Amino acid sequence: DSLVNLVRGHIRDIPDFPSPGILFRDITPLLADGPALQALVDGLAEVYRGRIDAVAGIESRGFILAAPIAATLGIGMITIRKAGRLPGPVIGVDYSLEYGQARIELHPETVVTDSRVLVVDDVLATGGTAAAAASLIEEAGGEVVALGMLLELGFLQGRAALTGRQVDSVLVY
Ligand code: IMP
Repeated sequence: DSLVNLVRGHIRDIPDFPSPGILFRDITPLLADGPALQALVDGLAEVYRGRIDAVAGIESRGFILAAPIAATLGIGMITIRKAGRLPGPVIGVDYSLEYGQARIELHPETVVTDSRVLVVDDVLATGGTAAAAASLIEEAGGEVVALGMLLELGFLQGRAALTGRQVDSVLVY
């Protein structure tokens, strides 16, 4: 549909970033285009209107999308951050990246018990980050309605790490 074409037309492919052999999908041209950004945020907000109580963004690019979607719907945004960034008591989860380990954390009181949460990030790759984020929301007492991704790198089979979860990607490569 129109959102797919909008996104497709504003992604820049950068070869060999951040390391040789990786084709990086860069969303900065999409963010820099005001009408495109507005159409994207409005379009995504309408998909979930009435079905969610909060939007969780994954640091850093997930924040960029999660906050305006939440504000458009008049609901709260939950920040899921990299280890050591949140100031209060946190719950966290360690997970594997393609190379090495990572950890994300959450202020658990920012998740209302039994609230319906949309988890947002820019790119679904192996699915490790999204799976970790969903488990954190659930550990804090929320219900994960869907994982909303701008782009999905289908060849990395991230959905396999997310079986049983609703994964909504605007554009699949
Ligand atoms: P995963 O845990 O392997 O699914 O990796 C997902 C995370 O890596 C997301 O937070 C993305 O922001 C980031 N990521 C992976 N590949 C790309 C890319 O091509 N462009 C932008 N971000 C990417």
